[in-house]
Amino acid sequence: MASGDGSFECSGCGTCCRWPGQVRVSAAEIDRIAAFLGLPVREFIAEWTALTSDRRGLTLGEREDGACAFLSGDNRCRLQAAKPQQCQDFPLRWNFPGWERLCQGRKAGTCRPGRPSPGGS
Ligand code: SF4
Repeated sequence: MASGDGSFECSGCGTCCRWPGQVRVSAAEIDRIAAFLGLPVREFIAEWTALTSDRRGLTLGEREDGACAFLSGDNRCRLQAAKPQQCQDFPLRWNFPGWERLCQGRKAGTCRPGRPSPGGS
């Protein structure tokens, strides 16, 4: 799967989904994901999201190992058709320290994508 402008080819390795950080979701994304899952919005929020650490929004739930709750056993995103913008933006618009060693995707025409952003987010 390529990024919006085709500059990054995702291999589906799940690296970004296992990163133990927050996946912030906007109100519009919550509506979209709840509809995609066939759940009432309130139920989706109650069962599949948590308050962000800054208490200013919601993040997708995570497994005990810190991976996203929507990463399936076969390493696929169960929200693929409705996944949040943050997921679509990895790694060109945000990433984390050391991501280059883990991510199996490729930037078009190179062996490895660009540099990590300061602060890793
Ligand atoms: S929503 Fe999908 S793409 Fe985003 S972190 Fe979770 S499993 Fe990965």
